[in-house]
Amino acid sequence: MTIKRLVARATIWAGLALLLMSLAPAEAKADDKGKADVVLRNGKIYTADAARSIKQAIAFSGNTILAAGDDADIEKLIGPKTKVVDLDGKLVLPGMFDTHIHPIIGAVNGAKCSLAGVKATLDALKPVIQACLAKDAGGADEWFEAAQLDNYGFQATAKDLDAIEATRPIALEGNDGHTVWVNSRGLELLGVTAETPDPRGGKIDRDASGAPTGSFADSAAIFVADKIPLPSVEEQAALTAAELKKMSAFGITSLMDAFVTPNEAKVWRLLYDSGKLPMRVRMAIYVADPNDDSDEAVSRLVAASKEGDVDPDFLRSGLVKVFADGVMEYPAQTAALLAPYLDVHGKPTDRKGELYFDPQRFARLVQKLDAAGLAVHIHAIGDYAVRASLDALAAARKANGDRDNRHQIAHLQLVDPADFRRFKELGVIADMQLEWAKREPATEGPLEPYLGPDRYRYLYPAGSLHGAGATIIGGSDWDISSYNPFRAFQTAITRAGGAGQQPLNIDERIPLTTAIDAYTINAAYAMKQDATTGSLEAGKRADLVIVDRDILSVDPETIQDTKVLATYLDGRLVYSAPDEDEGAWWDEREARMRAWLHRN
Ligand SMILES: [Zn+2]
Repeated sequence: MTIKRLVARATIWAGLALLLMSLAPAEAKADDKGKADVVLRNGKIYTADAARSIKQAIAFSGNTILAAGDDADIEKLIGPKTKVVDLDGKLVLPGMFDTHIHPIIGAVNGAKCSLAGVKATLDALKPVIQACLAKDAGGADEWFEAAQLDNYGFQATAKDLDAIEATRPIALEGNDGHTVWVNSRGLELLGVTAETPDPRGGKIDRDASGAPTGSFADSAAIFVADKIPLPSVEEQAALTAAELKKMSAFGITSLMDAFVTPNEAKVWRLLYDSGKLPMRVRMAIYVADPNDDSDEAVSRLVAASKEGDVDPDFLRSGLVKVFADGVMEYPAQTAALLAPYLDVHGKPTDRKGELYFDPQRFARLVQKLDAAGLAVHIHAIGDYAVRASLDALAAARKANGDRDNRHQIAHLQLVDPADFRRFKELGVIADMQLEWAKREPATEGPLEPYLGPDRYRYLYPAGSLHGAGATIIGGSDWDISSYNPFRAFQTAITRAGGAGQQPLNIDERIPLTTAIDAYTINAAYAMKQDATTGSLEAGKRADLVIVDRDILSVDPETIQDTKVLATYLDGRLVYSAPDEDEGAWWDEREARMRAWLHRN
């Protein structure tokens, strides 16, 4: 909430209070005292408290939960003005977190020409891209961007793309978020030639003569993205605000933006200042050079983080984001492995992928960031990247002791079994994208042969990490994948994409309650928000979600179809289902309760 809105609200309340004092008899005031604004009763409240207890009812007043308990206990909190909702047995969950998401980048991508679901061949892409181009005219200096290309196995040169569009610079962005293809005009505008060196942590694809072919990976793709002008901050904010509303409809009340440059910081600030932030946001400041362990670099990050600490409830930073490596899928294979990638026939190659930092320098940087009180959120995909990240965090722990910064490693696609126990030992939180852990084209063709069975068995090892005592949290990495938490829940417990599908290493499944924890109380802990959110307990903020089915007892293969009926953030209803049936459910309950209140 903005200061302006707080003041506005305070003024309304003050006015209302005066009015009530002048009109209402003294008894009415006494009746209202300590009563709830809202009571949800006759339901199943999954509290995510320490005992993971389940209650029947919950009451809140303003932004604060008064109590969760039996209907009879909560009854006494119902006053004449209390809005009472009969849940009719429905399940209530704490407001959910997405601990690794890219809301602004995703929203901006969403406005680009979408290649989602289009077969990644030049023949299939051509008509789609040309149709977009026809609707979005531009000159030889105006970039045209298409996003969500299903890039696994896609190969194309700038010349190939010239056959689609030769005059205007075009960029096709892969849906792994790490790869981009441009045409010849694009290469020309970028000024990339055979003489241009690969940026650290990235790869410019080249032909035999060293000339760029038009394909860029990892930090080289970021280099390309940086050269393409972004929409204005206002436009980005408008696109993001629309997306945040959709997130509320999936029960998300808190998120962590996992890639914040000065641009993203401006967009969040604008959304906050204009009162369009229906979400608790934490910003991870992007560390462009993980080898720069100078005091100046650390001070800059600390300053950026401080500037991001705008409102302890709604807009904070306190953490930084670092890439340890790239992606593991063929052909990019920029993830850093302990042992070489195999070729398609299972024979070791000479490629292991590379770390994006020098381990010693990175360890010094992490040590300084930790001493300065910042949490470090590390993208680590390959088992070597995971180990080097743990080593750096171990060095920081040794030098500084436990500073309770709650560092996190994200993605964890491959973890060496020797490292499982280190998460608990070092207090490092495992940020997993649980929806990725399923059998699908992306986890088979471009991965299985190149890793071999011994490593493939540990792909996305959520079960092993959980078994070794690691705290698991969940993020979607949207717009890489859907931010629907219920899809992540279903995949986490079935390791499959849907009913009847083959699971991916089923031994790595986790219990449903662990998956719920990953999106609620454990996520709140990781975000240092557990004093106020993450569970439904007296004194905490009223962030909660009413859903249409009891995910704790339904067929696990239907969890992903769960519909959110209502989402409360900070005690305010920020979403209620517009769908006819669910809307009717909501209105009917309200009407029934109003009638009931009148009778009584
Ligand atoms: Zn990400």
